[in-house]
Amino acid sequence: MDKNARIYIAGHRGMVGSALARQLAAHGYRQLVTRTHAELDLTNQAAVERFFEAEKPQVVLLAAARVGGIFANASQPASFIYENLAIETNVIHAAYRAGVERLVFFGSSCIYPKACPQPIREEYLLTSALEPTNDAYAIAKIAGLKLCESYNKQYGTKYVALMPTNLYGPNDNYDLKSSHVLPALIRKAHEAKVNGDATLTVWGTGAPRREFLHVDDLAAATRFILERDVMEGLFNVGVGTDLSIRELAQCVQRIVGFAGEIVFDTSKPDGTPQKLLDVSRLREMGWHAQIGLEDGIRQTYQDYAAARGAQAARQPAHA
Ligand code: GDP
Repeated sequence: MDKNARIYIAGHRGMVGSALARQLAAHGYRQLVTRTHAELDLTNQAAVERFFEAEKPQVVLLAAARVGGIFANASQPASFIYENLAIETNVIHAAYRAGVERLVFFGSSCIYPKACPQPIREEYLLTSALEPTNDAYAIAKIAGLKLCESYNKQYGTKYVALMPTNLYGPNDNYDLKSSHVLPALIRKAHEAKVNGDATLTVWGTGAPRREFLHVDDLAAATRFILERDVMEGLFNVGVGTDLSIRELAQCVQRIVGFAGEIVFDTSKPDGTPQKLLDVSRLREMGWHAQIGLEDGIRQTYQDYAAARGAQAARQPAHA
């Protein structure tokens, strides 16, 4: 791909968008177009159309979305379905109208049925019912990938959909009510260690299995797709192995150095029992993830602890 291509990264301040911006800048892409939420509200159709007419990007990376963990999804389903549908229809349609050649849409592994055979192949999409704790979000993401497919069919565009597994890394959300499990466990373990607590509470039974991908690996996969001139399709992006939430909590506990006990709050939902992606479609093309889970968590924890330290240092001593 031309290093001078004008690439619009929608959602460049989020975890995925900021990783894309780092990845592309590090590999010599010089014309990255970005807008903050305050500058451009992607749920506003007229504003999005004006932006595309004025900027005329050649490539769009659609990483803007309302995202959240199991609690946020279950308690605000209307926000998750409405905002994601609005962003997708506005951006994809405006991109097509402005003659955007290529677009990468980012979804999520929760688009697949709850009772899917594991590992999950792309073909299992829409073969049975969704996990109810996040079906509103999943329906919006399925609509996004169907928009890409439909525009390719009808208008000959080259819009690709990537479905990453659970992500973690820089710029993640550490708010315990809306975060995903990995940042939540990092925060809980850190605070439990600092406070000298006897226990760390993990939601659910600890039995569900999840797969975790460092967001820099997703950004690398995206660059691979762009540079290989992949023009259409749906691609799972993951590491190919999973672990239980209990094992994940033990791993975080070890890395953070929390000496207490892990306890399980079974009044909280488990969600889908397992979510492991089959990543052979991308692997056969020559891409695989590079960042191991332990290394990735260690790096993420260092960043988190450094940010917490800096925050504490900024606060007046007698606040
Ligand atoms: P999911 O992958 O869509 O289910 O989303 P999450 O990352 O929010 O949750 C994954 C699993 O981790 C679920 O079984 C949760 O119940 C479990 N979990 C354990 N402790 C926590 C926590 O503190 N926060 C979150 N979000 N999930 C937790």
